[in-house]
Amino acid sequence: MVKLTVDDKVIEAEEGGTILDAANKAGIYIPTICYHESLSSVGSCRLCAVEIETNGKTELTTACTYPAEAGLKVRTGSEKVVEARRLAVELLLAQRPHSAKIQELARKLGIEEPSFTLKERECILCDLCIRACRELVGAEAITFIAQGKDRSLDEATVVHSLEKCIGCDSCAYVCPTEAIMVDDIGDTRIISTPSGKLEFKLKKCKVCGKYWAPEKQLEYIVKKWNLEPEIFDTCPDCRD
Ligand code: SF4
Repeated sequence: MVKLTVDDKVIEAEEGGTILDAANKAGIYIPTICYHESLSSVGSCRLCAVEIETNGKTELTTACTYPAEAGLKVRTGSEKVVEARRLAVELLLAQRPHSAKIQELARKLGIEEPSFTLKERECILCDLCIRACRELVGAEAITFIAQGKDRSLDEATVVHSLEKCIGCDSCAYVCPTEAIMVDDIGDTRIISTPSGKLEFKLKKCKVCGKYWAPEKQLEYIVKKWNLEPEIFDTCPDCRD
């Protein structure tokens, strides 16, 4: 364990952890939207900005990526931090004004409306879906694409590969702005993404007749774990 100071409070952190991990354990609120505890951190949303002091110098950094080092001094509510977080949340709100999650974050930071306008978009480029698909599922079915004539970030989005996607819905589960949605209708799963819809045939349970999981996902699991395909003839509810 290492000791660091956050807002004049000495807290303990696990070696190898981040400032965000340490603050969360100590009950100190730091807002995030691109962070998930089961995934690697990229600090893309900048909402978790904190000010750190090292060798007498202060600088802004992202709490989800900066290591919780022994003796580090961290401030979570300084003027610079508040300014950085306000700008980050205003950027998000301007792009996705109807997202309940972003509205809640904005409210917590005292912002009702952004002070500027941007083109509305579904995907806020938080990267959570890409990391979930790569790190949890192993399918690597989502890529980040900058579109448009000048391939600018304004037109950037995420694109699902129908060939690689197994329809598991992990990307929709972690998406904070509902830019990726899943609907199971009859024997079909439909995944709606910012770049279009993908459809997957669902497997029918031999016992209860319920359509319960994409056939492609089950084939993927069978192959990956070298299982007998028959184990998925029945749904989890009808298995012994
Ligand atoms: S539904 Fe497809 S794109 Fe989304 S996490 Fe699963 S495999 Fe990846």
